[in-house]
Amino acid sequence: MKRVSIVVPVYNEEDNIAHFVQSVEKVMETLPYAYEILFIDDGSRDRSREILREMGERDPHVQSIFLARNAGHQVALTCGTDHADGDAVITMDGDMQHPPELLPVLLAKWEAGYEIVQTVRLTTEGASIFKRLTSKYYYRLLNAMTDVEIQEGGSDFRLMDRKAVLALRRYHEHARFIRGIVGAMGFRKTSVEFVAPERFAGQSKFSLHKMISFALDGILAYSVQPLRAAFYVGICSALLAVLLFLHVLYETLRGETVAGWSTIVVCSLFFGGMQMMMLGVCGEYIARILQEVKNRPLYLISSDNRRMGEQREEGN
Ligand code: UDP
Ligand code: MG
Repeated sequence: MKRVSIVVPVYNEEDNIAHFVQSVEKVMETLPYAYEILFIDDGSRDRSREILREMGERDPHVQSIFLARNAGHQVALTCGTDHADGDAVITMDGDMQHPPELLPVLLAKWEAGYEIVQTVRLTTEGASIFKRLTSKYYYRLLNAMTDVEIQEGGSDFRLMDRKAVLALRRYHEHARFIRGIVGAMGFRKTSVEFVAPERFAGQSKFSLHKMISFALDGILAYSVQPLRAAFYVGICSALLAVLLFLHVLYETLRGETVAGWSTIVVCSLFFGGMQMMMLGVCGEYIARILQEVKNRPLYLISSDNRRMGEQREEGN
């Protein structure tokens, strides 16, 4: 029997876990696979850990790994794909925004020979206009600035064949943008569209700060265009300076003096601002280089509650 690992990062999802497990099991029981639901607890501070431990004791399908601290969704996902040993690995959120009813669809595509089955979110029910618009234009910007194809509405709900999972494990970058990595990896791909429902319980765990840093990770990891921007701004301002010089020369020859104060202030503010901004951009890249060079472990595990062996026996 083929084995399927369902990897689920969770952070403070005490009210979602039981319902999630129930819904996934209901779907998986109808399919001819051995499966595990591998939760990666991303440093939860609510009752999530107790719930996972308890469920794991009762239900051999429920496995969990607890991270030592909150490392972020992308890193938790990475820990999951590092440890999942199914023939196919499916990553999904634990808040029911990635509908378990789609699991048979993903698995059918896998059986049809696809090695990566990506899902694409058409809309998210109940999402704020702000989140919708920023998401839409973000993907446009990302596609315009980088070589990797990332579909608008791309999500981290996907199925990967073992081969693709092994390939993913060879990417060690710290500022992780898994959508970009998977997008650039190749393999036989297809996608499935879905409408994301509202969260079952609780609040989104992505603060504005986390969203911005995730968005920057995507752009800065896959593009050096922001650095190139300095070059173009430089050329434009040099051209502007030549025009201004010609204007001043012309006025001087006519015996007029050019009123200078406001021009100077506006110019110095503008270029001062531009320079600070570009320094900031360089700083972002340098900080990322530092992060990669230090090569610290991506995550630390505080306890691994998988019951190894048992699952395997069941699978064989
Ligand atoms: N999550 C996580 N670590 C974090 C933030 C989120 O493991 O630091 C998990 C969260 O529990 C959920 C999934 O990642 O299962 C997606 O997060 P969320 O639903 O908050 O994101 P949204 O759907 O609002 O984009
Ligand atoms: Mg969600």
